[in-house]
Amino acid sequence: MRHAVVTGGAGFLGSHLVDDLLEDDYRVTVLDNYGSGRPENLAHLQTADIAIENHDVREPFPAFDDVDIVYHLASRASPEDFGTHAVEIALTNSEGTKNALECAREYGARSIIASTSEVYGNPEEHPQTETYHGNVNIRGPRAPYDESKRFSEALAVAYERKYGMDIRTVRIFNTYGPRMRPNDGRVIPNFLSQALSGDDLTVYGDGSQTRSFCYVSDLIDGIRAFADAPGGMAAGNVVNLGNTNEITIRELAEIVLEVVDTASEITYRELPEDDPEVRRPDISRAQAMLDWEPTVSLQTGLERTVPYFENQLNPQLASDSSSK
Ligand code: UDP
Repeated sequence: MRHAVVTGGAGFLGSHLVDDLLEDDYRVTVLDNYGSGRPENLAHLQTADIAIENHDVREPFPAFDDVDIVYHLASRASPEDFGTHAVEIALTNSEGTKNALECAREYGARSIIASTSEVYGNPEEHPQTETYHGNVNIRGPRAPYDESKRFSEALAVAYERKYGMDIRTVRIFNTYGPRMRPNDGRVIPNFLSQALSGDDLTVYGDGSQTRSFCYVSDLIDGIRAFADAPGGMAAGNVVNLGNTNEITIRELAEIVLEVVDTASEITYRELPEDDPEVRRPDISRAQAMLDWEPTVSLQTGLERTVPYFENQLNPQLASDSSSK
């Protein structure tokens, strides 16, 4: 069996990736320190093919018998955490990436490094192509994440050049779905939690800023397609992965109010500093290289996500209504 090591495997994206790898007959080792990951994200897995280790990627990785691929997804990713866990995040994406790359080097494994649309900062090129160098505030509140992800990419390129390794980088745009923490702080968990609790939806600023939201299964399909692509095209490459359906945050709030049966309304809060004004991936590279593009609409993705949040917010109520 092929062996995949997944850092952050108990997190939102990591746990969906683990499901996918197990279905594809991989043996999987998860390394997670449960900073933002949660054991319950993996609790449904009843298989001997998974090993879960409580490990912080800032520490050198444990020894394995062999490793075919390292997926490095570990890092908090909510802007709410960028201030409260700044040093942890900065080191997870620097020391942590170094340790992930060292692990891959030791076993001759392929590596997939999770980068982010945040490397584009408040973009002056729109939509964002992989060749755009970005517009990031080095000293701003988002810097512990943005700049460490940029460093993570630079380190990956340096390792690839020095050691001739097969390292592939994915720039992940806004993604949502089941297993996001209800109190995560990102906009879809906030809006769904608020709507399901009958609280008003907190739109930051005037809500004219845009994002493009990708459903989690589409994102995982993209990561796997890139990870498994022939080396000639994909090795050493970087791809944007995300949905190209760009909407304003105010529109998102209105869609959530349509999807969830609620008396909630919209309320406005101060816009956080350095909040990007626009964001939409140019996914031509992934389309051409991987024949991949998202297929799940925002409406459908939200409908698939709501039951999870209902259950998280009120497990008793959710189980009563499903048994009726
Ligand atoms: N946002 C909002 N209300 C919230 C949380 C976020 O209006 O309760 C806005 C936020 O200011 C940003 C967008 O939604 O413009 C997406 O924020 P998120 O934290 O999900 O991720 P980001 O794309 O900023 O990394």
